[in-house]
Amino acid sequence: MNQTIECRKLAKAFQGDGVKTNVLKNINLVLEDGEFISFIGPSGSGKSTLLSLLGTLDDPTSGELLHGGEPVNRLNSRQLADFRFQNIGFIFQQFHLIPTLTALENIMAPLFGRKVSYNKKQRALELLEMVGLPEKANALPSQLSGGQQQRVAIARALVHQPKWLLADEPTGNLDSETGEIIYQLLHALNREKGCGVLFVTHDPQLADRADRKIEMCDGEIVADSQVIHHA
Ligand code: ADP
Ligand code: MG
Repeated sequence: MNQTIECRKLAKAFQGDGVKTNVLKNINLVLEDGEFISFIGPSGSGKSTLLSLLGTLDDPTSGELLHGGEPVNRLNSRQLADFRFQNIGFIFQQFHLIPTLTALENIMAPLFGRKVSYNKKQRALELLEMVGLPEKANALPSQLSGGQQQRVAIARALVHQPKWLLADEPTGNLDSETGEIIYQLLHALNREKGCGVLFVTHDPQLADRADRKIEMCDGEIVADSQVIHHA
């Protein structure tokens, strides 16, 4: 099935103290199946807001979002929850692991209460292996370094095999060496599993290591280019 994400005249405004702020203005964008894309732009330019809309975590004020050619706003809330579960994984700068659960339990958490055809624990263990932390199954987040926590967060985001992984400054809290491990993991995921990856970053060098770079400023897309990689 086609997993294209398309935005048509997407806009988002926030209302506060009687003042309306247009945070996203007229976003038109097509993200093709399996792309490896970076988002870059000044703080406050709307990157996180756009990521939330693309991942259906929030609704646009106007305009339309389509996934696989289908308008997402036609889904009721239950359908939307299922859709998100099947299609979208999220990771964040702050990892957002549940502190009282072990690494393995955190990975399985999105599956709690869901009927699936596979063995949940088995799947979680395989993912822990994939992110290079097989020995940390029973560790709590507080017993893991930042880079290790982010790897657990990636495993958790992948537990339902999403078509897209949306990453909001995934290396923002990590030193450059650890950030490189995370980048390599996202890259491998894209190349080996065909998962579409969209990552937000402040780092221009990292942004240039995607296949396509989208630059935002003041709620608008100001550049969208294929990155030329020199061997
Ligand atoms: P970025 O991720 O590029 O730094 P954001 O998408 O987080 O930018 O924010 C864009 C703008 O929207 C900022 O000015 C921010 O203050 C504002 N904003 C974001 N979320 C909300 C919200 N829930 N309510 C009000 N304003 C918000
Ligand atoms: Mg942000």
